[in-house]
Amino acid sequence: MDKETGKRGVSILGSTGSIGRQALEVVEAHPDRLRVVALTAHSNYQLLEEQARRFRPLFVGLVDEGAAAELRRRLSGMGMAVSAGAECLLEAAVHPEAEVVLNAVVGSAGLPPTLAALGAGKRLALANKESMVAGGDLVLQALREGGEIVPVDSEHGAVFHCLRGEEMRHVESIVLTASGGPFRGRRREDLASVTVREALSHPTWSMGRKITVDSATLMNKGLEVIEAHFLFGLPYSRIKVVVHPQSVIHSLVEFVDGSFAAQLSLPDMRLPISLALSYPERWGPPFTRTVLAELEKLTFEEVDRETFACLDLAYRAGEAGGTAPAVLNAANEVAVAAFLRGRLPFLGIEEVIAATLEEHRPRPVRTLQDVQEVEEWARARAEEAVETQAGNPAEPGRS
Ligand code: NAD
Ligand code: MG
Repeated sequence: MDKETGKRGVSILGSTGSIGRQALEVVEAHPDRLRVVALTAHSNYQLLEEQARRFRPLFVGLVDEGAAAELRRRLSGMGMAVSAGAECLLEAAVHPEAEVVLNAVVGSAGLPPTLAALGAGKRLALANKESMVAGGDLVLQALREGGEIVPVDSEHGAVFHCLRGEEMRHVESIVLTASGGPFRGRRREDLASVTVREALSHPTWSMGRKITVDSATLMNKGLEVIEAHFLFGLPYSRIKVVVHPQSVIHSLVEFVDGSFAAQLSLPDMRLPISLALSYPERWGPPFTRTVLAELEKLTFEEVDRETFACLDLAYRAGEAGGTAPAVLNAANEVAVAAFLRGRLPFLGIEEVIAATLEEHRPRPVRTLQDVQEVEEWARARAEEAVETQAGNPAEPGRS
């Protein structure tokens, strides 16, 4: 908290993305409570310039060096520090004026700043689930030294808030809800020929492209199971997934007495983002008001695990532990990128991940370098698997 203004300083990593832009809407709704200290993005200098002029952070950074040079030129004379390269994420994560660091980067590029923010004792508002999946053991190690995490992922935010004031020994299980994505109810053979456009039309959430594809394969839920394991310390057998197509119940906690606690609201990511930025307070008014009598019905169904095999791949990698979740995540990043550029059929995504995991013998993770080395191996292996599939178009999505 800034002593003079009473405002909480926030660094936003990935400010040009879906979560980053919504976080700035939250800041705009609370100008007397929040101020932007740092903004970073990958390469979108036009939008970052706009955001910088509007929010006047002390620090901006772009990973792409050319884009950063352009941004520096455009912002010259404004007294803002403009940084270039992946280090800008670390600078924003440890900025002395930042009380809360929102990590809304996509992919495991978010791991170094996650560790840096915790190392600097910051409150980390974590949207970047890939950093938890790739480096969960390291994140827990960092948390033992300092810092804290408030989850932004809507499911984990819901669980986090359902657990406030509760004792973990009273918890039976965590139940993560899944919308089911655009292909809910389809059979496996229906998925062989689905297009990128179909995979990108999510029924309830509007999000970045990578997480939208992850939601269509259900790998998003798989990553979230691993994220939940590290965040809440439960074994995988006590982390469950249920399909809830309305996306109104964001997740549940089941207690040993058989009762459930849940968090409900119409789907709007600005709620979990606000909760993470306001924590331990709650701020109104709501962005979206939920009128219970207008909700027609709330339904639940089992996941079709045969059709959406990515979920079990994630459980298996999670159970194997060590470097396995990092391999799962890296192979998924490669496969999703290949699908998005039309190089891989939809069902090829799970095949590439399965083939990569198949060849991996998990080892313990002790350092960031352990993660980065295994990711490098996994990316290369997954690229080979993509090429094998791409060269075999007669059998798209064979399983
Ligand atoms: P997005 O693609 O819309 O935005 C990603 C942001 O990260 C952009 O600002 C981009 O410039 C930046 N970025 C991309 N690659 C980078 C790199 N290598 N280094 C540094 N910055 C990089 O993604 P999104 O949908 O906002 O998702 C961000 C994260 O939040 C993901 O981990 C996602 O799983 C998680 N999440 C998103 C939602 C959602 O509703 N969008 C919900 C829950 C969790
Ligand atoms: Mg989620």
